Amino acid sequence: MTKTDRELGLFRQITRRDFIHGAGLTALGLMLPSGCGRDSSRRPGTESGAGAGGGVGYPPTRTGMRGSHPGSFETAHALARQGMRFDDPIDLAENYDAVIVGAGISGLTAAYEYRKEFGPKSRVLILDNHDDFGGHAKRNEFHHSGDLRLSWGGTMNLEYLSFSDTVLEFLAELGIDVDALSKELDFHYGDDKPAIWFDAETYGGDVLVSGFSMYSRNLDVLEKIDLFPVSESARAALKKFYASDADLLQGMGGPEIEHLLHRTSYTEFLSRNAGLPDEAVELFMKATDGYWGVQPHSLSSTEAMNAWLPGSHLLGDAARRVAGNIESEAVAMFPDGNASIARLLVRSLIPSIAPNAEASNIATASFDYSQLDRALARVRVRLESTVVHVKNENGHVAVTYVKSGENLRVQAKHCVLACSHSIIPHLCPEVPEEQKAAQRNQVKHPMLVTNVLLRNGKGFDQLGVSGAYCPGRMHAKVLLIQGVDTAGYQQGSDPENPVPVMFWGMVAPPRRDVPIHEQLREARQVMLEMSFEDFEREVRTVLDGMLGPTGFDAAEDILAITVNRWPHGYSYGYLDLWDSPWETGQAPHEIARRSVGNIAIANSDAAASASTQAAIEEAIRAVGELT
Ligand SMILES: Cc1cc2nc3c(=O)[nH]c(=O)nc-3n(C[C@H](O)[C@H](O)[C@H](O)COP(=O)(O)OP(=O)(O)OC[C@H]3O[C@@H](n4cnc5c(N)ncnc54)[C@H](O)[C@@H]3O)c2cc1C
Repeated sequence: MTKTDRELGLFRQITRRDFIHGAGLTALGLMLPSGCGRDSSRRPGTESGAGAGGGVGYPPTRTGMRGSHPGSFETAHALARQGMRFDDPIDLAENYDAVIVGAGISGLTAAYEYRKEFGPKSRVLILDNHDDFGGHAKRNEFHHSGDLRLSWGGTMNLEYLSFSDTVLEFLAELGIDVDALSKELDFHYGDDKPAIWFDAETYGGDVLVSGFSMYSRNLDVLEKIDLFPVSESARAALKKFYASDADLLQGMGGPEIEHLLHRTSYTEFLSRNAGLPDEAVELFMKATDGYWGVQPHSLSSTEAMNAWLPGSHLLGDAARRVAGNIESEAVAMFPDGNASIARLLVRSLIPSIAPNAEASNIATASFDYSQLDRALARVRVRLESTVVHVKNENGHVAVTYVKSGENLRVQAKHCVLACSHSIIPHLCPEVPEEQKAAQRNQVKHPMLVTNVLLRNGKGFDQLGVSGAYCPGRMHAKVLLIQGVDTAGYQQGSDPENPVPVMFWGMVAPPRRDVPIHEQLREARQVMLEMSFEDFEREVRTVLDGMLGPTGFDAAEDILAITVNRWPHGYSYGYLDLWDSPWETGQAPHEIARRSVGNIAIANSDAAASASTQAAIEEAIRAVGELT
């Protein structure tokens, strides 16, 4: 029977007593500015709880709606969607060598490189619309009874085996030893103790099938499919699919094989080539949500199999070309994801923010946000500041931004736009029309990372599960966050202790047969229209259904919820089914990133690649274009 919101614990107040017990914080070396306790002592995640009074506060502890949080996007939407003008700015008479738009990894790298290129005395201002730096590299911090729990609100992995020497050298300059980080890592995205969870709303009853992963072909556990609450024929077809060793490509010519691998959607491959009925195909529909932000019907069979979806075992010799490259699976990771890189960059740009921080302790180092924007500092990071106009003017660049409802103007010799490319045509009218069209082509994939702090990990422990794929729910995956005890952070694995759980995925677009860019825009709009309570109800329902049989009480055992919604998430990389190859230099991202006077253009969009490597490399390139 469906539980009421009250039974699930929505709208509950969490008492201050339940939360921060200051002594533990000191022990952890954390310096929480006033206001943080207030943040966390409210409901397990509230938008109003996100403030720290009128002061700078300490944003990583804010719960509730994060990522694209209220207050961060309205100005940009007024500019881009309603064509609002921001005339007559107040001239602050602040002159910089460089103004950087965007405090994500790319913007922070641009500031770092700028000072290398133009000298450490350069004066740099970094502007960002969010209340924290890092962009997608977002730190989520929870505190309970003196314990610190970290999770990542966006950018997580360092897929370092594919990093260029430039990026590896850059990370080494920050003191990051990716090999060491990787060796310390014991987090497997739920693959070590996998499960699939069928929910009552979709499948008529809550069913957890542990020890089975939809992603891997493990013939030893095929009988687990018998437990799936789907029709007998769907179960039989699934078992046959995983067990088969047929070579579907036998007898096919080169063009036919090419078509099957790159021009056939994964869902079409499953139904037409692998013979799965619709009901079985449907089970895979959310399997690429968190990894791609696009569902398998819009991905080629190769792209989906590269994301570890099964099927390559039916492709004979071509299997090696498509199956997820085992080598590239290796990752390094900080406990707060690549937010640690953002923190190391900010620490390098503004040493007083965290005098004792270094790569070896960055996960728990104290950060004093009041140092971010100090009048005499050479580098200033100004948050909650949305840039609305950028213009080359008499050999300088004039930058207008909106902060607290005021239109403000600063000036610099150079500007680096390290923001999403889709906003650039609106804030920089002098960009040539062809370039604006290329920038508009960059429609990012909406992504969702919801972190929930549980009172303890006993439920997961009892079930013997570290992660579950949920084919019927909004968040495709639920993952226990454990095993990232690096960079000064020690969470351990005692199931009696509080543990973060990550809900990972996207808000799927309405099921309509429309081009990919429209799908992404529709999904983004659906995501933006959802309230915090919608997400809260979702995670409570899932945890209640999945862990309820172990004695878990959703009303009592959920301590905090942080929703990181990213309507502008992954940079759009070209997709087999939707894009054709371009002549060198003519791909939209290559046109989009051309410098305009003293304005250079960075961001991972500039490489059409949703990766930290791209964010760093494009910043280095952009700064190199400034003269
Ligand atoms: C959920 C999620 C998970 C990811 N996981 C990984 C991963 O595991 N590994 C990986 O390599 N990559 C991952 N990525 C990709 C990620 O996008 C890049 O790695 C990288 O963090 C992008 O950095 P960036 O600086 O280019 O862009 P962003 O992080 O988007 O930073 C740009 C900043 O500019 C701001 N901005 C935009 N417009 C304006 C304006 N007008 N005025 C002021 N500021 C503005 C934005 O709000 C943002 O804060 C993930 C992305 C998401 C969304």
